[in-house]
Amino acid sequence: MSSHQIQTEFERKYAEQLKGYERGYAVINLDAIENNMDSMHDHLTPGTKMLGVIKTNGYGHGAAKIGKVLEELDYCFGYAVASFEEAMELKRAGLEKPVLILGHTFPYCYGELAKNDIRPAVFRADCLDGLCRAAAEAGKRLKVHIKVDTGMGRIGITPDDEGLAFVKDVLVRSELEIEGIFTHFARADEYDKSSAKEQLRLFKDFCHRIEKELGYRVPIRHCSNSAGIMEMPEANMDMVRAGITLYGLMPSDEVSAEGFDFKPVMSLHSHISYIKTIHAGQSVSYGGIFTAKKDTVVATVPLGYGDGYPRMLTGKGSVLIHGRRCPIIGRICMDQFMVDVTELAPAVREGDEVVLLGRMGDECITAEEIGRLSGRFNYEFVCLISDRVPRVYLRNGELTV
Ligand SMILES: *Cc1c(COP(=O)(O)O)cnc(C)c1O
Repeated sequence: MSSHQIQTEFERKYAEQLKGYERGYAVINLDAIENNMDSMHDHLTPGTKMLGVIKTNGYGHGAAKIGKVLEELDYCFGYAVASFEEAMELKRAGLEKPVLILGHTFPYCYGELAKNDIRPAVFRADCLDGLCRAAAEAGKRLKVHIKVDTGMGRIGITPDDEGLAFVKDVLVRSELEIEGIFTHFARADEYDKSSAKEQLRLFKDFCHRIEKELGYRVPIRHCSNSAGIMEMPEANMDMVRAGITLYGLMPSDEVSAEGFDFKPVMSLHSHISYIKTIHAGQSVSYGGIFTAKKDTVVATVPLGYGDGYPRMLTGKGSVLIHGRRCPIIGRICMDQFMVDVTELAPAVREGDEVVLLGRMGDECITAEEIGRLSGRFNYEFVCLISDRVPRVYLRNGELTV
């Protein structure tokens, strides 16, 4: 490797360990996870707990590995996931903090749910009998979180008399214990916070009614997602749920990261598999939508939409090689795509590092940029990086594979 070829610091340092990862890999910086959690925690009302949202395999970053980091943070109450299967994966990984399932839990898993102390979100009256039976069979009191719909229009009880009757029904069941109550903002990531504020008002009023009319103060009341954590300190309550910002990504381009120290956790790397020069009139990739106007040096990158790299970046995206931006030419294929490296010739070589997401030299490609260009958004892009891309982990500045 000649000295003018800019590699990421990561590849320079771990050249030996990274053998076998040439086709492509994602680096997950677990130190950045801790940094991002700390940065959010610094802004919270003292005593506010945090829930790490690690659904969809930790937004594609690796749920169990991230859970292990969160397990050590005393202000982190536990983990939020989307399904029973995700919850069990954390249990099997040996994580001991509480796990909350944010979505609906179907009856087939009640037995295992109760045995493993996994907290379901409850909002359907027809589910309560089954949950009670499972709790009784497990010989446990099952902790649940009531889900309230204050404007998201997705799942949850209504914050009115009917909702209050539901809470009462849960309260009288000795097999169940209401540990938490929560709602979810639909529009906290917008400049205009009026809708989110209205949701917060409805939620606080409803919690107040439970206390006053049913005589129960729910121990953990929570509503904020990342956008709420960043811009609605009045919504902290007892706990907040940190999702996208845990990964150093932004909830939207309408929220400001000022005062926060968020570091992106994931970067995506590959290596040039082939270089050739094509001449004016020659086309590249399916459909022949790119035709060279002049001699062009073309590098092939051995990742594609089968790895979760969006096909919609065709004709729009770029990658970093030698610290410079190289435009994607022709359609992105399932397993490969091509970039124009004419500007880097003749120094550019097969085997040179390619950064698809992250920093190299002075240039940086963010998930936000890829999200915008591909018509996916940043959340979706990282979630969909496929299993075919191995994740390698950095902790305390060291590589753990
Ligand atoms: C996904 C999710 C979150 C996290 O949202 P972010 O915008 O990623 O912070 C919080 N709460 C609920 C109910 C969710 O479904």
